[in-house]
Amino acid sequence: MTDATKYRALVDFIGNTPLIRLNHVSEATGCEILGKAEFMNPGGSVKDRAALGMVRDAERRGALKPGGTIVEGTAGNTGIGLAVVGNSLGYPTVIVMPDNQSRDKVDTLKSYGAEVRLVPAVPFKDPNHFVHQSKRLAEELDAQLPQGACWAGQFDNLANREFHEQTTGPEIWEQTGGAVDAFICSVGTGGTLAGTARALKARNPKVTIGLADPQGSALYNYYRHGELKAEGSSISEGIGNSRVTANLEGTPIEAPFQIPDSESIPLVYELIRREGLSVGGSTGVNVAGAVRLARELGRGHVIVTLLCDTALRYRARLFNRAFLESKGLALPDWLDLG
Ligand code: PMP
Repeated sequence: MTDATKYRALVDFIGNTPLIRLNHVSEATGCEILGKAEFMNPGGSVKDRAALGMVRDAERRGALKPGGTIVEGTAGNTGIGLAVVGNSLGYPTVIVMPDNQSRDKVDTLKSYGAEVRLVPAVPFKDPNHFVHQSKRLAEELDAQLPQGACWAGQFDNLANREFHEQTTGPEIWEQTGGAVDAFICSVGTGGTLAGTARALKARNPKVTIGLADPQGSALYNYYRHGELKAEGSSISEGIGNSRVTANLEGTPIEAPFQIPDSESIPLVYELIRREGLSVGGSTGVNVAGAVRLARELGRGHVIVTLLCDTALRYRARLFNRAFLESKGLALPDWLDLG
């Protein structure tokens, strides 16, 4: 006899990720710096949470019908999350991505059977930006396909941050026994930072909320100086923004930091070598932000950040001598780069 209530299917394993002490940065700062292992989600990144939150919300609203197609514009990880969730719940996925993202994310999407459409990377104000193209495509497919299509719209769809408010934030609160002093991470859509901040502030208004922003993003200047202004560039993917999204709006960011690649990328290699943690560029930005915040708050604080995805999602960049040299980044001398 089978017992469908006793065992859980894949989507039930999204979230409830481990909270890992980052030994070396904790010892260097005298704080407890903890990383939530989001790369352990079934689709390998933090974006599984937003994907599930948006799919469940679309089902409830009736926007996504049985067998309907999910369409999204994404730097890749949300697409992978949607493909994982979609495959497990019976929804095909069509993913629109800018063509400057790592090949590994495109290959991963295709390996799940998602239809991938690469479009030129252009500014958000351009009607051909991947977000606008994905929205138009969703409308077209909805009119054509018998089961319809639904646009996820992660940047301004509040189901994204709500899922973090209901899961990521409460998990951090429980895993630290309420001892968390600060939470900091980078922002792509802002769903993670905004939702987690809301949950933690509701439990203890004294929890400090920080932003770790890469160069090339306008958010640091906005929260530090009140002006949306970008400078420089970064090899990190999936983070940074030129605008305050609906998800990010109203987030009480008290400690904004701008993190150059020269600070975050060496940390990526240090996390691999000294902690055994394979992480991508956005995690380097997150941990660099946690270190800066630890130095600002002083010793003895509990600071939580996110380990968003793994280095293997950026194989052709993080482990590529020519790419690193072209960006003027220091080569990790202990790694065999071929
Ligand atoms: N890190 C990575 C690797 C991502 O793909 C993303 C999302 N694009 C983020 C961080 C940022 O998460 P959020 O969209 O919730 O701000």
